[in-house]
Parts: sequence; C-alpha cells; structure tokens
Amino acid sequence: MQTNFTPAQLSDPHVAESESILRKCVHCGFCTATCPTYVTLGNELDSPRGRIYLIKDMLENGRPADEEVVTHIDRCLSCLACMTTCPSGVNYMHLVDHARIHIENTYKRPLTDRLVRATLAAVLPYPQRFRLALRAARLGRPFAGLMKRVPFLKTFGVMLDLAPRLIAPPSNAAQPGTWPANAEKRGRVAILTGCAQPVLKPEINEAAIRLLTRLGVEVVVPEGEGCCGALVHHMGREEQALASARRNVDAWIKAADEGGLDAIIITASGCGTTIKDYGHMLRLDPAYAEKATRVSALAKDITEYLASLDLPRQEEKTMTVAYHSACSMQHGQKITVAPKMLLKNAGFTVRDPAEGHLCCGSAGTYNILQPEISSTLKARKVKNIEATKADIIATGNIGCITQIATGTKMPILHTVELLDWAYGGERPAAISPSP
Ligand code: SF4
Ligand code: SF4
Repeated sequence: MQTNFTPAQLSDPHVAESESILRKCVHCGFCTATCPTYVTLGNELDSPRGRIYLIKDMLENGRPADEEVVTHIDRCLSCLACMTTCPSGVNYMHLVDHARIHIENTYKRPLTDRLVRATLAAVLPYPQRFRLALRAARLGRPFAGLMKRVPFLKTFGVMLDLAPRLIAPPSNAAQPGTWPANAEKRGRVAILTGCAQPVLKPEINEAAIRLLTRLGVEVVVPEGEGCCGALVHHMGREEQALASARRNVDAWIKAADEGGLDAIIITASGCGTTIKDYGHMLRLDPAYAEKATRVSALAKDITEYLASLDLPRQEEKTMTVAYHSACSMQHGQKITVAPKMLLKNAGFTVRDPAEGHLCCGSAGTYNILQPEISSTLKARKVKNIEATKADIIATGNIGCITQIATGTKMPILHTVELLDWAYGGERPAAISPSP
C-alpha cells in the first residue's frame, strides 16, 4: 500500500512503525473471509482491510480520531485471525494497538463510555478489587435485566449478567512463594498469577502447580508480579499497560537472576500473547528494552512447556474432548499442535469444532463493551462446539471459559486441569463421575 507520511510524521517511532506495517498491505482482502466482525456484520469497514484504510487515513492526515473510526476499531476483537490469514505478513496487532492509543489520546468518548472504561481499568486488573466487585454484583444481579433496558446503565447490566454466581475463596497458588519439585528436579519456572483468573477460577493455576511439581519442576510465584496489562492495553491505556509490564519484568528478572528460570509459565493465552510482546511494547524504554526482551523469550504457555517435558502416553479414556483454541492461542501465539497433542497423549479423544478459527466473542472486555456482537459470536461458537457431541470442552484461556460457560451446559475446563487429572491429580470437580 502506498503511503504519504511526511518526514516530520515519520520522526515519531510509533508512526514510522505503523507506516512500515501499512506498506505491507496489498489490499488483497483475503483477511476479510476469516474476520469474525466482517463475517457477522458484512461491512467492509468492520473488516481488517477496512480498518487498515481507516487507520491509514487518520494517521496520515494527523487527525484526531472521529466517531466513525472509533466505532469500527472498537468493534475489532483483536482476535488476530487476520494475521493468520494475511499472505503479506501485515502486523495488524501492532497497527491496531497504535490506533487504540491514538483514539485514547485524541477522542472524547460519551460520558457513560468513559465511566464504564474507567471502572473496568480500575477494577479488573486488581484481584482484591475484582473480588469485592463480584461480591457486590451478587446484590445487583436481580436488577440486571432492568438495567440492560436503560441506555445509561446497559453495560453495567451486562457486567452483572457475566459475574459468576459462586466466588472461590482466595487461593494459595496466587500468593508469592515457592512450590518445590515433588520428583527428581528437572526445572524451575515462574508462573503468572494474573488478575481476573485467580478470582474466577483459581483451580487452573492450582492444577498447573500440582502437575508441574509432580513432574519435577519447581514453581515460583515471585513477589510483585500481577496483571499482565493486556486488558488496559486493548483499551489504549498505554501508560497503565506499560506500568504493569515493567512491574512484571522487574519481578521475573529478579527471580531469574536469583534462582534461574527455564520459563515463565502462563495459563491464560490472552496474557501470554501480551507478555510475549513485552519486548516490543518496551522497545523504546532504554531501562527496560533488554530485560523485557529477555522476559518475552522466557514466556511460555503451559502447554508449550509441558510439550517439552516428553510426558508418557496414558491409557485411553472413554472421554471425548472438544478443544476450543482461543484466538490468542492459535492466532496470537500460533500454538495449535501442543494442547491437542498433550490431551491425546493423556488418553482423551479430541474433536475439533467447525469454524475453529472464529472468536467466541470474549476478547478481554469485548463481551462487556460490545455485547450484541459478542453474543452472536458466542451462539455460533457454542453451536459448533455442541455439534461435536463431546463430553467436555477444553481450552487455554479464562476469557473463553467464562464466555462459553454462559452459553452451554457442557462442562468447560482449562486444558491443564485435564492433564493434571490424567497424570495423577484429582478428577476436576466440574466433571461428573461417569460421563
Ligand atoms: S483482529 Fe479479528 S476482529 Fe479485528 S480485524 Fe482482525 S480478524 Fe477482524
Ligand atoms: S490479507 Fe493482508 S495484505 Fe491482504 S488486505 Fe488483508 S491485511 Fe492487507
């Protein structure tokens, strides 16, 4: 794509990067076919190519974001299916990240929108605040239907609907500490506790720690680590996202320098995509660029790391698993083989739902901010998953687990919960004794 940025504009490294991304796009439109919002809405401006044109026009003309740009960029899930499809290697992720920062810096959203976004940014990344908010949601839930009919309160009604009915007590696995290897030691890793996951489903990291230690891997939760920053990063709140990234980089580099680390394990693929991008996010910060690159290189999804441990084959089970590959897993991190290979090796029969490349509509805070499109995508995803007639669903991202669970009665678990069970752990509570 031809671009017309001035030398002055290109002296801004963010603009220079976006320009080099834009120049790679050859307008072929292959990406439109796999874009969930284009497939759902049928509008070229809700396709990757359409959004690329909008971003180019906005940046080239040095214009503040307007309502049209904001509408179509807000509808983007950041699922990155377009990056998997694109034959020209267009880095849509970094382009849309830049566009979102530009929107945040130049566009004044309506008051309700600002309130909702400020609330999400102030609550979700902080487990204690999030836990309190979920407790409060229990009181507000009876009014969710009413709130969704009032435009000003609609999004708050959606949040109440999404809040889980049961809140697990705080887990030890989310506290700083060391879990020693329970077999001959063969590695040492840090594990990301994160923000929403330990509140919504602490069983995930508990299963990961049990499994890893049983396999001879020492696991540490370093003091100081927390939210990866993805939630606010996708809202264009760059300073908040970078502050989270720096705090985690400090915590993990300290743990690596003190006791050595073979990997930083991540059990939420949405977080994994962001942490693997820390090197890029902090590239312009001389104090952090090198350390952040080191952290990104150490970051591994739990299934990537387990695949390197060469686990023994287990007896075949009668249980069939529909594997839902989160967008951040398959498009963001390009991890497509390891989770299914591990499940098969553990004795499960694995089925692939149709249209596996399409997002379930969770996408961080998307199911709160874009509830209509999100619901349409969820219904499509659930229909495809249920058509597999599997006993259970496995996936590797808390956002997808929360989203899909609200649309089906099928049990849904994190892949590592099934692997922990298959390799000597307890049967997950979500699975009935005789499926
Ligand atoms: S990230 Fe997903 S929703 Fe956004 S343009 Fe690409 S394919 Fe479409
Ligand atoms: S597939 Fe790639 S090159 Fe083709 S229009 Fe989409 S982003 Fe541009």
